[in-house]
Amino acid sequence: MKTYRIATIPGDGIGKEVIPAGRQVLEALALSERSFTFEFENFDWGGDYFRQHGMMMPVDGLDALLKKDAILFGSAGDPDIPDHITLWGLRLKICQGLDQYANVRPTRILPGIDGPLKRCKSEDLNWVIVRENTEGEYSGVGGRMHQGHPIEVATDLSLMTRAGVERIHRYAFRLAQSRPRKLLTVITKSNAQRHAMVMWDEIAAQVAKEFPDVKWDKELVDAATARMVNRPASLDTIVATNLHADILSDLAAALAGSMGIAPTGNINPERLYPSMFEPIHGSAFDIMGKGVANPVGTFWSVVMLLEHLGEFEAAARVMQAIEHVTANPALHTPDLGGTATTAEVTAAVCAQVTSTAKSHLTVA
Ligand code: ATP
Repeated sequence: MKTYRIATIPGDGIGKEVIPAGRQVLEALALSERSFTFEFENFDWGGDYFRQHGMMMPVDGLDALLKKDAILFGSAGDPDIPDHITLWGLRLKICQGLDQYANVRPTRILPGIDGPLKRCKSEDLNWVIVRENTEGEYSGVGGRMHQGHPIEVATDLSLMTRAGVERIHRYAFRLAQSRPRKLLTVITKSNAQRHAMVMWDEIAAQVAKEFPDVKWDKELVDAATARMVNRPASLDTIVATNLHADILSDLAAALAGSMGIAPTGNINPERLYPSMFEPIHGSAFDIMGKGVANPVGTFWSVVMLLEHLGEFEAAARVMQAIEHVTANPALHTPDLGGTATTAEVTAAVCAQVTSTAKSHLTVA
């Protein structure tokens, strides 16, 4: 029997509630699987670790992760620590250190979820946003001088490399090719940003030649926000820079019903390093400790993790269990207008995974 080594990093805030819930789902799955099991290792990195050690994770933390098959991550963010420290000290350190250059964010309106777009049928909204995850606007290049003085100067350089842009476009075209509609929209801002974004467009056109069966178009990022709201069915796979996709995917999550539902994968496509899966929401301190965090974004991240491991049948079973549960309004958490707790939703998804496992094992 295969054993997958999974690192769990709950991080901060509701990450500490939803990641144990995600682990419960994986454990329920493993109990009923003949061909694989999981070996978990939990890492207590984040805000509390920072208060004790002055850093968000240990200096040799990445070495421990290298030995894993996949990582399940919660969130990084603490009201008492500046956001740029929590973000750069943990999540970005892992994404850049493990070269997880493709950030993949599927968005759909799940059964039973009421999206805010009045004229949008749930089948009209079925997107995957591919975000460049290691350079661009979040390259970290820049600096400040004369701090606090009237002549203070600060820069953040958006750095794009041909290799970095080419590999993310190729990943996005390949993903679009694997989806039924074979449709890709390249998000740009080359009208105003006339150097790096022009190179971004040129490389997209070059890579497109390798994928003659993929239909593709270009959209300015500002126009893309309106198109997502007014013509959602005109989009399928979307590729964008680090900053643009960061913003568009929050919009996508809200249009699909709640920030609590959306998942993401930070992928190293060449599999030289482990990939990391996480709900897109942050630490949500306003609801922390109340037991009402929506765990669906984490469960969907678990589905992506299983797909990445090649366990497609198990992934499909967990996704069906999630959809079975979201279809029941009595199992909606308060962000979806319901009264269910994290524990109730988790128990329902685990029960569904177990019950479908019985038929799955009988048939096998
Ligand atoms: P961070 O600064 O770490 O990104 P944040 O609290 O500013 O986090 P998010 O957590 O991304 O921002 O979400 C904003 C709000 O959406 C939260 O304050 C919370 O009210 C709600 N929310 C986010 N995730 C969930 C969830 N899983 N379940 C319920 N509500 C959520």
